[in-house]
Amino acid sequence: MISFEFTDIQEQVRETARKFAKEEIAPSVIERDINAIFPAEILKKLGEIGFLGMTASPQWGGSGLDTISYTLAMMEISKVDASVGIVVSVQNSLVNWILEKYGNDAQREKYLTPLASGEKLGAYCLSEPDSGSDARDQKTIAQKVGNKWILNGTKNWISTGQNADIYIVFAQTNPELKHKGIAAFIIEKGTPGFEPGLKEDKMGMRSSDTCSIGLTNVEVPEENLISEVGQGFYIAMRGLSGGRIGIASQAVGIAEGAMEASLKYAQERKAFGMPIAELQAIQMKLAQMIMKIDAAKLLVFKAAYMRDSGIDHSRESSEAKLFATTIANEITREAVQIHGGYGYVREYHVERMMRDAKVTEIYEGTSEIQHIVIARELLKNYPL
Ligand SMILES: Cc1cc2nc3c(=O)[nH]c(=O)nc-3n(C[C@H](O)[C@H](O)[C@H](O)COP(=O)(O)OP(=O)(O)OC[C@H]3O[C@@H](n4cnc5c(N)ncnc54)[C@H](O)[C@@H]3O)c2cc1C
Repeated sequence: MISFEFTDIQEQVRETARKFAKEEIAPSVIERDINAIFPAEILKKLGEIGFLGMTASPQWGGSGLDTISYTLAMMEISKVDASVGIVVSVQNSLVNWILEKYGNDAQREKYLTPLASGEKLGAYCLSEPDSGSDARDQKTIAQKVGNKWILNGTKNWISTGQNADIYIVFAQTNPELKHKGIAAFIIEKGTPGFEPGLKEDKMGMRSSDTCSIGLTNVEVPEENLISEVGQGFYIAMRGLSGGRIGIASQAVGIAEGAMEASLKYAQERKAFGMPIAELQAIQMKLAQMIMKIDAAKLLVFKAAYMRDSGIDHSRESSEAKLFATTIANEITREAVQIHGGYGYVREYHVERMMRDAKVTEIYEGTSEIQHIVIARELLKNYPL
């Protein structure tokens, strides 16, 4: 049976997120973008209403919601400010999920509980200066010395890198084993030798904080190894498979924000004696926008449904991410066009949305990598 209706809980989550975004996130969004201010206060409040542990189980401080509820919250938040969206996405889909799924009870108690209850922020550290799409090629090295691991290397582009408290860090334990030598570790902020660098000066998502992290002889207790040595790459990829649903939702949110701004503007702005919304050329743009958003949502909800049902969703989450991020870039560009000159200045929001949309095609696997994942899964299911 297919239902196109949300449950009462899903509707409540969407309404709560919508109200929160309007009242708490919207008023300062332009200032935070211009001055690249991290939304610490907003995140504290999101933590208090359970949005930093949405899908984590209540046993570990989470809200115990389903993935569809999470996608709805991500859409509503990102519609207003995608920079807040990225922090929420990394925390929920990558950090919390990995700890709940692959951590042991002691790790869940010590690390997941404060994250899911919103007291602490998390970061996911896979990319390196020379290892992005090819994440198997980890240059950060972990050596076992007694009952500790010693980590050395550099992580790059880490979202919430300066403001996080708990970091999941991937590192190579034996280069000869290639990706089968990678392990995942939990590192706490303030650990000697673990040093977040300067915040990147980005094109978009400016109020999220992205930085590199240097690791110099960082001592990690052996109890902070997640699962087993050799499982790190698998854990990283499984995390991204769900993370892509979060980024797809973020992209849908950005696209919807741009469409709503365009609908309003097109009915207010007059040219040739009539609102530009009455011009067919503008109507075609608006029609394309809503059609693409509707299609992207269906892909997102399908992937989320499959995740909740325990069905492998590698292809579906890549499809959702690829499609939603592509249309978010198309729609934000058209939104600027509909706004004419006003679209090119900050006050009307759509130029920020256009800048923010770009990175959704890059992080958590570029669009090129999503094509590869989709084709690989497709070929796997149609052997000769
Ligand atoms: C704002 C921001 C936040 C980020 N947050 C995080 C984070 O929190 N944690 C984290 O670990 N990482 C994070 N990243 C890193 C991000 O995931 C990588 O930038 C991304 O995976 C691409 O890696 P790269 O930049 O090294 O590009 P490369 O891998 O060098 O790719 C360069 C180009 O080559 C293409 N390419 C590469 N391989 C192939 C192939 N096989 N076939 C076709 N084309 C290919 C790519 O698609 C791309 O167009 C973030 C990045 C940004 C910009």
